Amino acid sequence: MSNDTNPMEIVSKQIDAANEILQLPADEVACLKHPERTLEVNFPVIMDSGHMEVFTGYRCQHSTARGPAKGGLRFSPFVTPDEVKALASWMTFKCAVANIPFGGGKGGVIIDTKKVSEHELERITRRFTAEISCIIGPDRDIPAPDMYTNAKIMAWIMDTYSMGKGYAVPGVVTGKPIELGGSLGRTSATGRGVTITLQELLKLYKMDFSKTRVAVQGFGNVGLWTAKLIHSLGGKVVGISGFKSCAYNPDGLDIPKLEAWVAETNFIKGFPQAEVLSLEEVLSLDCDVLIPAATEAVITADNADKVKAKFIVEGANGPVTPAAETILTKKGVIIIPDILANAGGVIVSYFEWVQNNMPYYWEEDEVLNKLTRAMIKAFHDVDDIRSQYPGITYRQAAYVLALRRENTARRLRGCYP
Ligand code: GLU
Repeated sequence: MSNDTNPMEIVSKQIDAANEILQLPADEVACLKHPERTLEVNFPVIMDSGHMEVFTGYRCQHSTARGPAKGGLRFSPFVTPDEVKALASWMTFKCAVANIPFGGGKGGVIIDTKKVSEHELERITRRFTAEISCIIGPDRDIPAPDMYTNAKIMAWIMDTYSMGKGYAVPGVVTGKPIELGGSLGRTSATGRGVTITLQELLKLYKMDFSKTRVAVQGFGNVGLWTAKLIHSLGGKVVGISGFKSCAYNPDGLDIPKLEAWVAETNFIKGFPQAEVLSLEEVLSLDCDVLIPAATEAVITADNADKVKAKFIVEGANGPVTPAAETILTKKGVIIIPDILANAGGVIVSYFEWVQNNMPYYWEEDEVLNKLTRAMIKAFHDVDDIRSQYPGITYRQAAYVLALRRENTARRLRGCYP
């Protein structure tokens, strides 16, 4: 993996870029670049065939300086220790930008969920949970959904952890089903946060929301909810990519119809109201805003010059590599970074955890109002820093804010012993 796409190299570069402004001493920067703890587990699971298979998983806690570690758990064949560590670091900075009292964590299991049965998936989840139970908990580290994990998987984690304790512990994970203490508004929260960020950005640049042409890369939870919310608010989603191809309509796509089509046929291909293009073409569509909402390192030095959008709003974690960002910034493209734009998910996870701890549950409008306020505040906190230091990017500004909050907490706590 080249330095431009190695996720821990990317984190290191992002910290250094913010430190050009902050000027933190080298020893403190070294602490920020190293996760506190990473647990690797190799565990056997009895498959439906009766044979045992060994799986590998990780849970990384980058920081617990501002509160318990918080962050998702992904099930993917491409999980690596460095990826989990980088994603945990981004969670620390995301929680700091959103100003919620958590540090950052992330977990992953190397698995292709399409190749295992439902029962196998449940046994893998339960055994992995048992393996990491020694470091997670509502006061220590709280997993949540990420790529290829969902509310059902969170319910299995909650149950497995609770069985070990002997009583129900809903606060050990977020993104649970509502019936088990999940929060209203959590499923759509990341996409809603991306949409709120987009609205604030367009207001700032005096652009008309209804006329702005948006392309979304990704048809998972974040991509689909973002597209649906933009569409429902009267916005124009001109393109969206799925797993194999991309739908394009310069007059705007009917997202609910496209969603129904994909639910029925599994593919974008054949959708009558759009031109069907190749998967990669979503990144170079003629549009004003591009929202990469799938995975890391999709916009690299190799394809950055093909991007036509004037704005990129990062729905995924780490979709633009530093080399791509240099090319795009030179072209005048404004990038709203992941640690700001996709913070809606973890913000509502925080609300879920608060409700679990009370335990008293809010109506959906209360959750959505609190989310909207938190996203708008985070956007303007970052924008204020950007105005203070002319010429810096939104990513640098977001990191200045995050590192300032994180490092202040570390200084106040001091170095034990
Ligand atoms: N996986 C999501 C993220 O990357 C949500 C994490 C959470 O809710 O803890 O932000």
